[in-house]
Amino acid sequence: MIFNVEKETLPRDELAALQLTRLKNQCERVYANVPFYRKAFDEIGVTPAQISSLADLPRLPFTEKQDLRDGYPYQMFAVPKDTIVRLHASSGTTGKATVVGHTQRDLDNWAEMMARSLAAAGLTSLDLIHNAFGYGLFTGGLGVHCGAERLGATVIPVSGGGTKRQVDLLRDFGATALTCTPSYALYLYDAAREAGVDIRELPLRVGVFGAEPWTDEMRADIERKLGISAVNVYGLSEVMGPGVAQECAVAKCGMHLYEDHFLPEIIDPVTGDVLPPGAVGELVLTTLTKEAVPLIRYRTRDLTSLDYTPCACGRTHVRITRILGRSDDMLIIRGVNVFPQQIEAILIDMEGISPHYEIEVSKAGNLDNLEIKVEFSEAMFVSDEVRHIQNREQRLQKAIKDYLGVTAKVRLVEPQSLRRFEGKSSRVRDLREKK
Ligand code: AMP
Ligand code: ZN
Repeated sequence: MIFNVEKETLPRDELAALQLTRLKNQCERVYANVPFYRKAFDEIGVTPAQISSLADLPRLPFTEKQDLRDGYPYQMFAVPKDTIVRLHASSGTTGKATVVGHTQRDLDNWAEMMARSLAAAGLTSLDLIHNAFGYGLFTGGLGVHCGAERLGATVIPVSGGGTKRQVDLLRDFGATALTCTPSYALYLYDAAREAGVDIRELPLRVGVFGAEPWTDEMRADIERKLGISAVNVYGLSEVMGPGVAQECAVAKCGMHLYEDHFLPEIIDPVTGDVLPPGAVGELVLTTLTKEAVPLIRYRTRDLTSLDYTPCACGRTHVRITRILGRSDDMLIIRGVNVFPQQIEAILIDMEGISPHYEIEVSKAGNLDNLEIKVEFSEAMFVSDEVRHIQNREQRLQKAIKDYLGVTAKVRLVEPQSLRRFEGKSSRVRDLREKK
């Protein structure tokens, strides 16, 4: 079902006209109300009045995460504080958090976009949504919550944590949809098995997963283990939260980005040049309707590409392809660029399941050392002899060398010995000195 047929299927020329009007309006508002933007526009000699077409977008200044940090907490706000009805902060693990405020209209738009997303995932007002995204400053929990209410579905605000209890709730309440990080979906699966609950036999039929990178291989694994249809949801707190883009259950091929509210570009992360549709680069988003904290050309650091080809679902909004990783997550190992998701895809491919794993990069003399710890499955642990274990390790090492061109040391470790994650997973430890 399409939640907002008028907006989600707007012909592209009408969409472009709407975007231009909104872009001009946003630029005028930030120029008038946010000193950071007035300065940035003045420095490059552009005034909002000079914007006459969407092709002028690349002339506008970028906004970086650091700019939001420098403006901590309220300097990027474009409205008086008494019109702010809610604050969120990014999960930022490095440096200061970034604070984002929302007016009532911002929250209404967000709820609508998240409702569109849940509908695109195949949900309706008849569904029961077990929301295991964390509630709090993190946008996942409340973002999905308000979207579910807007859809008219029943939302169960479970939040993260208490995994054993979550299994009971899933079984007892009979939720038809699960929303959380993909790694938490697998954690729930493990916990359910331990408790003797087969999730495939429960009414659960749809999963909407996001907040961290995952792969098509992992999707297949989750769908099989939980007996559900799983789709991808994308968002970031600086720009809004979950519901910036959503994969439709019809095509399951990239996430429709709500272009009536956001203007996307893909740039070369090094030169900042705009890249053509289809090229992989860094996603840059300009908000078109945000009142509290509008952003012009915000550099997300997320790597993806834009797909403007028509989608079978009928939505006209552009699709972003699965996020390949963050430009700041890329590991350079002996000169080779490696994304953790590439390693994950190989592990799933070879083992036939999503393994729990940890990547550690260290320095031995001048050389980078890549070590990957992968958990055995219970079955392997019982039946495998030492010889077999070594064989498996060597096969994985060879596959990583063949596909990625880097030498890794793979170590199989005991079941349940690696960390589990209730929210975003963090599987990479880089012990090298940062430049
Ligand atoms: P936060 O600051 O907590 O809102 O986190 C936002 C970041 O989470 C994004 O910039 C992405 O790096 C990541 N993220 C969110 N959704 C997805 C997704 N579906 N796939 C990959 N990464 C995602
Ligand atoms: Zn679609």
